[in-house]
Amino acid sequence: MASTPQLRVAAAKNPPKASKPQQDGEPSTRIPPAETASVEDHFFWTYTEEPHRSRRQAIIKAHPEVTKLCGPEPLTKYVVLGVVSLQICCAYLLRNTSMFSWRFFLTAYVIGATSNQNLFLAIHEISHNLAFRSPLANRLLAIFANLPIGLPYSAAFRPYHLTHHKSLGVAGLDTDLPTAVEAFILNSLLGKAFFCTFQIFFYAVRPMFVYSPPFTLIHLLNLVIQLSFDYALTRFCNGSLQPVLYLLFSSFLAGSLHPCAGHFIAEHYFFSNVQHGTESIQEHKLLAKEKASDQEREKKTPHPLDSLPPPETYSYYGPLNIFTYNVGLHNEHHDFPAIPWTRLHALHRIAKEFYEPLPCHRSWVWVIWTFILDKNVGMWCRVKRAQGGRLVGGGGSTKNSNGRAGECMSAGPDEAGDDGWKESEIQN
Ligand SMILES: [Zn+2]
Ligand SMILES: [Zn+2]
Repeated sequence: MASTPQLRVAAAKNPPKASKPQQDGEPSTRIPPAETASVEDHFFWTYTEEPHRSRRQAIIKAHPEVTKLCGPEPLTKYVVLGVVSLQICCAYLLRNTSMFSWRFFLTAYVIGATSNQNLFLAIHEISHNLAFRSPLANRLLAIFANLPIGLPYSAAFRPYHLTHHKSLGVAGLDTDLPTAVEAFILNSLLGKAFFCTFQIFFYAVRPMFVYSPPFTLIHLLNLVIQLSFDYALTRFCNGSLQPVLYLLFSSFLAGSLHPCAGHFIAEHYFFSNVQHGTESIQEHKLLAKEKASDQEREKKTPHPLDSLPPPETYSYYGPLNIFTYNVGLHNEHHDFPAIPWTRLHALHRIAKEFYEPLPCHRSWVWVIWTFILDKNVGMWCRVKRAQGGRLVGGGGSTKNSNGRAGECMSAGPDEAGDDGWKESEIQN
């Protein structure tokens, strides 16, 4: 509705100093970070807080029962077990199949990439301590879910991801944001096609250039178990490298031109300048009514969001959520990171007056297609903030093990921490 809090953000496009070269060495808290000094900056700089916290508070106020949805989901570990087994079976069965055969490629694209994307998102879910109550059990399950990915990733992912939640859009902290140099180089049709094809490498390499959380015992365990698994699988298949290559190729395809990879783009790139495609559920209902009466809707040219700053997060409500732990419900997830995948639809239903007015996606394939081909959307289409947020989870794997897994009562305004967040909201 009109009073939906998340759109009540005032922002200034191209703030005074954003496109000017910075004065070297001059400390400033309101200018884009140093990375943007080398190229002209076209990101959407905002000086307001991220929208999820205020919406969370408003939803809890309107529907206190949503806090009951928080907490671990017992089903997750069984899904992980099933998908890990499926991938190991496929890898084993392909031990004598050439990498350059259709059989190998199609299995890797259809089953492998979908399964590994599912495991990426299982690790995401587990990073929020949503599989078990015990943080250590979650860390170990994540290492297990990591096995078919081929490279150790689960331990490294967690601090970066929790920081993404805590520092949404904050340059220098949120590693989901492209840097100005990436955007400058890649903001063309070919550049965007390259970015979408090799997305997985950007996600793997970019964080290392942004900051390095400490290397913990869990990182070491992740590394040792993963390398031992790759070695054992190769030995078990009589020295054939095909099974490990199948797993690695599946990971690559999972983050490449694959329908499920659309979620990477769909989550936080703004599509405000695209004419159609991201209409909210509410608009769709209206349009359906109007369509029945006449073709008047064509005259409704101005988009309701035209006068507002671009949204920072989009949800996707299409069928691929089945394979991806409902990661498409991304506004819902950022609002309540302690609600597990199985209960995000319930949150959406309970608080639909908050979610239905938001622009959203219906197809991840459309998202990739439009991102590459439409000139009005691209690498610069991100909301950035130069200040706020902070690093999370960098201090150790089980450091925050207070056994309060999944509790989200802290999401209430009264119990929130100094900056309105409480570690347990996303850590446990
Ligand atoms: Zn996100
Ligand atoms: Zn998350």
